[in-house]
Amino acid sequence: MKSMLKNKKRRIKNREINNLILQFLSSNSGVAKKKDLIESLGKHVSLVTIYRGINRLLRKGEIISFQVGKDHYLALFKKDSKKILLFAFLICEKCRNVYRLELDKKDIENIAQAIEALYNFKSEFVILEFRGICNQFSVYTKTAVS
Ligand SMILES: [Zn+2]
Repeated sequence: MKSMLKNKKRRIKNREINNLILQFLSSNSGVAKKKDLIESLGKHVSLVTIYRGINRLLRKGEIISFQVGKDHYLALFKKDSKKILLFAFLICEKCRNVYRLELDKKDIENIAQAIEALYNFKSEFVILEFRGICNQFSVYTKTAVS
């Protein structure tokens, strides 16, 4: 039984692993820690296959990768989208906790428009890191990616 499962692991097709990765990100509101994705899919698929899938999707521009603190993240990305993808994090310099934050995009979109006018540079995604000291009783609740 075990060897059958192992064989099944190896035979997964490119399109299947791509879909598994995209589905995992979708079910985590579009963004997840890379290690969480690998941990979850690694139960069914070999690591080599997962890494190949991630690299393929990065090349195709269907996902993006970025680092916040020590963690690597993967996020769904639509290249033709006119809307900016925004990720905002609070990083505590004391306890190293990372909190994901939902922000209103309007201000960021205004800044991106100004940048485009000044530098002819079109922003596709923005990552904000607010660094400081957290409060144990912070109003910010940890999200799935924190
Ligand atoms: Zn802290």
